Formats: sequence, structure tokens, C-alpha cells
Amino acid sequence: MGNLQMLLRQHIGAPCKPVVAVGDKVAKGTLIAEPAGLGANIFASVYGTVTEITEEAIIIEPDAEQKEEFVKIPEGSKLDMVKAAGIVGMGGAGFPTGVKLGTDLNGGYILINAAECEPGLKHNIAQIEAETEKVLRGVKYCMEISNAAKAIFAIKKKNEKAVELLREAVKNEEHISIHLLPDIYPMGEERAVVRECLGIELAPDQLPSAAQSVVINVETVARVAEAIDERKPCFEKNLTVVGKLNGGAEPHVFMNVPVGTSVGELIERAGGIDGLYGEIIMGGPFTGKATSEEAPITKTTGGIIVTIDFPNLHGAKVGLLVCACGGDEARMRDICQKMNGVVASVARCKQAAEMKNGALKCERPGNCPGQAKNNIQFKKDGCEYIIIGNCSDCSNTVMGSAPKMGLKVFHQTDHVMRTIGHPLYRYLRVSKQVEQLPEYK
Ligand code: SF4
Repeated sequence: MGNLQMLLRQHIGAPCKPVVAVGDKVAKGTLIAEPAGLGANIFASVYGTVTEITEEAIIIEPDAEQKEEFVKIPEGSKLDMVKAAGIVGMGGAGFPTGVKLGTDLNGGYILINAAECEPGLKHNIAQIEAETEKVLRGVKYCMEISNAAKAIFAIKKKNEKAVELLREAVKNEEHISIHLLPDIYPMGEERAVVRECLGIELAPDQLPSAAQSVVINVETVARVAEAIDERKPCFEKNLTVVGKLNGGAEPHVFMNVPVGTSVGELIERAGGIDGLYGEIIMGGPFTGKATSEEAPITKTTGGIIVTIDFPNLHGAKVGLLVCACGGDEARMRDICQKMNGVVASVARCKQAAEMKNGALKCERPGNCPGQAKNNIQFKKDGCEYIIIGNCSDCSNTVMGSAPKMGLKVFHQTDHVMRTIGHPLYRYLRVSKQVEQLPEYK
């Protein structure tokens, strides 16, 4: 095991402040950094020694011998234990769970986000299958803490085994039910979960609390159960490693990986990279970002994806169509550059509303407003290709007009989908236009 890099910012809010010094010995579960405002405690994930503290991270050299035991959080009320354990939204959002569950739902809903919407990721569903009881205990704790009267699991119908196990587990639970989701992207966005489960459409700047609900990811509820039942701090992460790996592109699910482990170490554990590759993504194909083998995983890392190489556009003019639920403009530009294209035009899906903090949020996730106007603009700007980051529905509507105008379409996830053998985000069938795209190396 190499050194662990414990990032001081693994959550929404300000970076945490270190409470250890270089040379300190730490155990699994030793508190090493505390929030300075909104945030969550950070704990050592191994037995070892603090060797360096920077603005961004605390570096820990692990001992050769590791034990299972960990330092327990103090006993307290259930909410206090969730806060003390440093749990954050482990589906990727990173919002401190103690703050979220501190809302009095006044008889409302806990909505368990089991959509696992990003293609290729499998660890949430694997956890439901392996730890159904723990997940259910966590749900009941969340209901109790936030004064919710009901809970609903939001899960895609295609995950038959997990759905069956949940059905069995909740068959005698009067107040806990299951809502089946279609297999489209995005279904895991908070407001999409609220809409699907409760039939309430929230505005982009409204939180689920406006619908008397809290949306909470599967792994997060399981960490809530661990904090309360075992007094366990949050220092481990479940994730999926998938892609161009020795042994094939089947997903590798890793449970309880010490936070701070390097991306490279996990790739090695999954078999190692198989020859030349395009990029390594941390997160899912839609919302993940390019990363390096040296980068550490955090409490919010859900996926590590090694992709095949990019096609070469030989300097052709490209239009970028930015979606609220896909890569941001910087990520789309990064992909365009890796494809050796030149950005000639940038447009946004008209449902992608800009929030006060600059982030984009979709007005109606997964329900497309049509994209012909943007395609006309791309054509005017002389684009030969467009790269889109749209949801399933919008990708279909892009394809309704772009090929007729002579625009060749890439989706930002194409290189991942080709790597993992998933249908491309177009029409979900191979179209003539797709066949005409440049060869992959
Ligand atoms: S409607 Fe537009 S912004 Fe919303 S998910 Fe689809 S492409 Fe993204």
C-alpha cells in the first residue's frame, strides 16, 4: 500500500482544518481534520504516520501491519453520531449528511437514491444485494432522525435481483416502499427522484425539502447505519473500477476502500491498464472528470474508468452542446482537445438554468425541449462536428436534426460506452451517421 492522501476538501463547503501534526501516529478512525464552517470531519483510513500536511491534503504513510479495529466516535444522539462520523453524500454530491438529516420533515419522505444512473457503475446495486439489511436499518435511522413518515427506494427496474431482495426486505414494512425507474439518464438527479417518486416537479433552485423530502444515496444510508450501530467513522468508500483493463472491461466493485488510496493502486487491483488508453475518469461517464493515477479517492468517488483512445478529428471545427446533467464546458473542451478538434461554437441546452453559484441545473431532467435551434447555430458557425453531453431524451432530439444538417455527432460519453460495450447515447440503435464517424485507433 502506498501513501494515502487525505484531501481536506471532500464535501460541499470549506476545506477542513488539520488537527494532527507531521510525525503524529494515527489509527484507523483517528480524527485528522475538522470542518471550518459547512463540512464534515475527516478521519485517518489506515494505521500509520502523518508525513506531510499541505494546503490541500494530509499525507499518511501506512504501517506495514494493518488491523481491522478502528477508533470509535463518541456515543450521542443518532443525529450527533451521523455528524461526528463525517458522513457526506457518497453518491457524489458530498453534502454533509448530518446537515441534510437535521431537517425536520414533519412526516415527509426519505427517498433512497438507488438509481446508480451513470452507466458502468455497479457498487450501489452490489451493496443492496450484499447488505440489504444494513441498508434498510440505515433507512429507518434516517426516517427517525428527520421525522419522516415514509421512505421510498428509487431503483431502476432493470436491476431485477436487487429489486427482488428489497421487495422481500420491505414486505412487512408498512411505511417503506419501492418505486421502479426507467433506464434512462438522468434518473439519479435529486429532483428527478422527487418527480418520479412523488409526482412533484421542483424548480431548479428548489431543494427536495420543498417537497417535504430528503434524497439520500444507498451507500450514505449504509454509512449512517455503521455510524449508529458500530460507532464507525466514515473513512472508507465503495466504488467501481471499469474499462480498458487486463482481463476485460467487466466492472470491478470494491467495497470499503480506505479513503486516500490512489487511483493507480485501485487500477492495479482491478488488473492494470491494458496497453494504450485514452484517459482515466474519476466519477461516471457523464459527470466525471479526467484524473491521474496519482490522484486519491475521496468520500465521493464513485468510479474510476480507463477508456479506449479518442478518435482524431484532425483540427476540424467542433460545436459543444453543454447539458446541466453532463460535463461542464471545461470538461467538454477537454474532450474536444483530446479529439484534436477546435471549438468553434458553444451552446447550452435551453433547459440548463444557471444557478447563483454558476452551476447548471436542468429545469426538467430527462424531458427534452428539442435541440434544433442549437444545431442551426452550430451550422452557422461552420462546425463539422458537434460534441454533446445531453441526457438520453435530448440526445435523441439532437439526432432528429443534426445529421440532416450534415453535422456529425459525438456524445461526450462515446469513448466510455465503446470501452464498456454499452449502446452509444444517440438513438439507442446504431445509425448510419454513427457508422460514418472516424475510426477509433
Ligand atoms: S433537458 Fe437539457 S439540461 Fe436537462 S438533462 Fe436533458 S440535455 Fe440536460
